[in-house]
Amino acid sequence: MNPGVPYIGRFAPSPTGALHAGSLVAALASWLDARAHGGTWLVRIEDVDTPRTVPGADRLILRQLAACGLHPDEPPVWQSQRSALYQFALDVLIRKALAYPCACSRKDIEGALQHAGREKPRHGELVYPGTCRTGLHGKVGRAWRLRSDMYQKNMPPAPVEPAQAAPECIAKVARPVEWTDRRLGAQQQDVEAQVGDFVLQRADNCYAYQLAVVVDDGAQDITHVVRGEDLADNTARQILLQQALGLPTPTYLHTPLVRGANGEKLSKQNGAQALDLANPLAALNQAAQVLGLPAQAGPVANALAVWTWQWPHLAMGGTLDLGPHCLQCRPH
Ligand SMILES: [Zn+2]
Repeated sequence: MNPGVPYIGRFAPSPTGALHAGSLVAALASWLDARAHGGTWLVRIEDVDTPRTVPGADRLILRQLAACGLHPDEPPVWQSQRSALYQFALDVLIRKALAYPCACSRKDIEGALQHAGREKPRHGELVYPGTCRTGLHGKVGRAWRLRSDMYQKNMPPAPVEPAQAAPECIAKVARPVEWTDRRLGAQQQDVEAQVGDFVLQRADNCYAYQLAVVVDDGAQDITHVVRGEDLADNTARQILLQQALGLPTPTYLHTPLVRGANGEKLSKQNGAQALDLANPLAALNQAAQVLGLPAQAGPVANALAVWTWQWPHLAMGGTLDLGPHCLQCRPH
């Protein structure tokens, strides 16, 4: 990243329940990375998916963070209050012909995939076969989707034969989105082939998670995204959207997941227990251990100070690339 740009990071929980041992790892990692860089740390409540939002979970999460000594540098923002920003971005994409209305129900998509002999869903999600790219043909639009085949707009064009070299052909050459994760290393995904044209606004009018995250990261000038590895699979889609909207791409660090006794990732959906506010240090020590940091005796503020100092040297086995913002690495 550009050393002239100040570090701004964020923790962005969905208020579908309380913080648990798994989500605290991501919260602590993003806080420590911001502190170690001398940066700003923001909290954003990702309640754009209103049907899944649990009333009061947002306030509970903020109380849990505060009990753990993780205080945001600016007042938190709520995605449910930012619809105008998302609509503005969607309108930009529609004007650029990068978004189009889709009339397909899940059943329609399943039928089209079956007809084309295409594979089964990936993580339970269907690869959209692009049915409505050519128009609605009299049907009523239910959702808006991104033209994922246009994503290489800002990437160097792939070499083509002279006969194919017309610009419209170049725009159809599929290339994977590539990025480097600070922990996972080189990553790539061919969004068009593996995900398809993804939804920007759903049939129930909710703006899609991908659109809201990208718009907010852009609007809040986020330079560093630190979040759980379960979200790594969204990164290529988000980079595509950043390019489509002309927004910069932050650096990414996806933190290790906490697994339950059954080996599955801890999540609100599989009944992970809420953090015990009575003993925040124990919860923080557990999260620190997942990040490769040694347990501290407390109090909480002291533990956080020690981990901030240790972060560049010990986190993830000392393998993190901190870059020019790191206070410990920066020439004094
Ligand atoms: Zn469709």
